[in-house]
Amino acid sequence: MIQNKYKILIVEDETNIRNLVATLLEMAGYQTILADCCLSAKTLFTSYMPDLVILDLGLPDMDGINLLDYIRKDFLTPIIILSGRTNEADKIDALDRGANDYITKPFGSGELLARIRVALRNNRFCAKEGRLPGGRFTLRNLEIDYDARQVFIKGKEVKLTQTEYNIVALLSENCGKMMTYATIIKAIWGGYPQEGSIKKLQVNMANIRKKFGDKPGEINYIANELGIGYRLK
Ligand code: CA
Repeated sequence: MIQNKYKILIVEDETNIRNLVATLLEMAGYQTILADCCLSAKTLFTSYMPDLVILDLGLPDMDGINLLDYIRKDFLTPIIILSGRTNEADKIDALDRGANDYITKPFGSGELLARIRVALRNNRFCAKEGRLPGGRFTLRNLEIDYDARQVFIKGKEVKLTQTEYNIVALLSENCGKMMTYATIIKAIWGGYPQEGSIKKLQVNMANIRKKFGDKPGEINYIANELGIGYRLK
């Protein structure tokens, strides 16, 4: 079984809370990276490129908002604020600056985990290059309805499993771009490719291509570059 190995950066100066959150996330199968101030968080963010950031606002060197702005300048990485500041103005400010969610202390562990799952899920298809999820995608006879999570070829629905759909949606949002095995595996299952996960991807991809009616020597939707990845074209 492939474990959910999303990397989460926890930025929190209070040792007790930092350790509590870290233990909670590790028990839920996440990898954690820990920072106790903004400066070290910036360094760790740049070197580890985490999948999500949990950010305290009251930090010893500067306000956590600085880190939020720093990340949002270049990245869509989900950021969940975990702060003792309970007033609405702080929440709105953080959300306006691009935080995905805001949780006030004290927090419930179940709630924190649920919010993390939502943020990771929403981000998965939150499009690169500024395209937003939702709407439709068309390529020749292929049509995708992102809201309904349905795929059609020549107007006829192609029945895909959830995983197959997620792969097709990912390829469509990066249409024309060669997506490496590692990129697809990380986006669909989290974690890094191992022999087992590449095999799993290949099996899913073979099923998708069969359902799409892709045949050798004809105009196909999904191109495979052996040993590298796949491209929707
Ligand atoms: Ca603090």
